[in-house]
Amino acid sequence: MTKAKGIIVPVTPFQQNCTVLWCEATKRAVVIDPGGDLPEIERAIADAKVTVDKIWLTHGHVDHVGAAAELKARLKVPIEGPHRADLFLLQHVAETARAYGILNAANVTPDRWLDDGDQVEVGELSFDVLHCPGHSPGSIVFFNAAERLAIVGDVLFAGSIGRTDLPGGDHRQLLTSIADKLLPLGDDVAVISGHGPATTIGREKAGNPFLQGAATA
Ligand SMILES: [Zn+2]
Ligand SMILES: [Zn+2]
Repeated sequence: MTKAKGIIVPVTPFQQNCTVLWCEATKRAVVIDPGGDLPEIERAIADAKVTVDKIWLTHGHVDHVGAAAELKARLKVPIEGPHRADLFLLQHVAETARAYGILNAANVTPDRWLDDGDQVEVGELSFDVLHCPGHSPGSIVFFNAAERLAIVGDVLFAGSIGRTDLPGGDHRQLLTSIADKLLPLGDDVAVISGHGPATTIGREKAGNPFLQGAATA
């Protein structure tokens, strides 16, 4: 990575990797998946000395979006993503969160739905949007070809893949999304997942037990 810099802030009881990502040339930033624990996210923004322009959401699960509405209100920035197919999740964030014992999560309405082939920008950085359903119907991945960087939400993890037992989940569809959209990005692409350590496409292609035998295009 050269122009892109980031800080990962694990948030919520699910230790979800909220990422404050910025363009080093302009110090303009995006907060990806502000699931909760806003004070820690705001501390990371202050430490980085960046200006947040946008909030991006990879998908509609509580641990990724629970604090998005409040952060939007505080920063007065638009929310982009996920894909519209996760609308049913975003409309029930508060009640789903309560079932997990999280009391301050709010429903959220994006300012811009994203679809496969869309582009989103922060500073001088441009990311392609890849629609990768399976973990949730509206899951998307943000990919910056120049920086060789993908932010994948809960589609792919180091050594694992997203769970598919939640509403709208589909295991076969998830494997197809990974095989068709993620593995072709290139072995050198760094992957920031929604939970756990960072990895690379090449490492997962070689060693992820869920992907053995998957098409590698
Ligand atoms: Zn999820
Ligand atoms: Zn998650």
